[in-house]
Amino acid sequence: MISEKARNLKPSATLEINRKAKELKAKGVDVVNLSVGEPDFDTPEPVKEIAIKAIKDGFTKYTDTAGILELREAISEKFEKENGLSYSPSQIVVSNGAKHSLYNIFLALLDPGDEVIIPAPYWVSYPEMVRIAGGVPVFCRWDENFKMDIEHLKALINKKTKALILNSPSNPTGIVYEKEEIDALAELLIRHNVLCISDEVYEKIIYDGKKHISIASHSPEMKKLTVVVNAVSKTFAMTGWRIGYIAAEKEIADAINKIQGQTTSAPSSISQKAALFAIREGRALYSEMVKEFQRRRDFLLENLPEEIFYPVPMGAFYLFFSYKEVDSLTLCKRLLEEKYLAAVPGEEFGADKFVRISYATGMKNLEITVERLREFVKENQ
Ligand code: PMP
Repeated sequence: MISEKARNLKPSATLEINRKAKELKAKGVDVVNLSVGEPDFDTPEPVKEIAIKAIKDGFTKYTDTAGILELREAISEKFEKENGLSYSPSQIVVSNGAKHSLYNIFLALLDPGDEVIIPAPYWVSYPEMVRIAGGVPVFCRWDENFKMDIEHLKALINKKTKALILNSPSNPTGIVYEKEEIDALAELLIRHNVLCISDEVYEKIIYDGKKHISIASHSPEMKKLTVVVNAVSKTFAMTGWRIGYIAAEKEIADAINKIQGQTTSAPSSISQKAALFAIREGRALYSEMVKEFQRRRDFLLENLPEEIFYPVPMGAFYLFFSYKEVDSLTLCKRLLEEKYLAAVPGEEFGADKFVRISYATGMKNLEITVERLREFVKENQ
């Protein structure tokens, strides 16, 4: 009865671990849940008030398919001011979260058999989304810095290559691409006429004074080849509001808009008003949260046992580590069963010897995490 498409889809391992952790918790076990992929902060109060006002004012109907003009104007200004990118509101489409934006992109761009290069370790949903849209995910190896291995990337590019996904800051590693790396990548993509889907949802969650660089800002040629994806989800602790957006060449934005019009009409009118306020307010709403994430990351870097191996996260709120080449499912299972630490297996991210922990959780939990990981390492030397 069920379609081949649905049958072939992998259920999310993240959710599975979450389920197990909750089960243990319900039994009274003191589980520390490190599998969470969203800020543990509440949506800022003024954002909530704007949404309540929208409801009271009766702003409760379908909007423009691509999102209300005011919001697209605010996004356009954001790109201009913060990324040095000039997009007209007609080049912007607002959707139900970045996940929806990404799915729309794949539907709009991919014909059966088109290849999308996904650098590992990657966010779990990319390959599955590419597959549902009829494309073929192709995986690029990482180098010693956990960034894509450029030689491998060159070898993967062929006539069927439609796009490359770039995710900086990255989920799950937290690595951030530097200007020179972005430049080299852009030059390669321009040379081969390959599109770049640039997932920038962690743009603002970045540390040590680093600045995120959008690959679209490399040159007018690269801007034409790029579809930028962003969202209010992580930046403003608004994951449940479901507002993401894309900016691209008008032809791509139009195709996405058409797909959206026939599938979801438009994102929530109320959430759009809230997102409009958040985007206009900007920094004032997220700077404290980012400082707190940096404080937690620094705590982990200073206190995690030396025996575990990880790339130093420069952004996002994850730490991706390996221990003695133990495979990720075994490591996750043992961490959960022996130390009551719920992490996510790296297998899902294309890195079988790693697990992902999230520090979108309070300091107390991180102190317990460090303590239990130290014990774990000691017991397994
Ligand atoms: N891209 C990446 C890299 C993510 O980590 C996530 C959320 N886990 C998303 C996109 C989806 O974001 P949203 O909640 O806006 O759909």
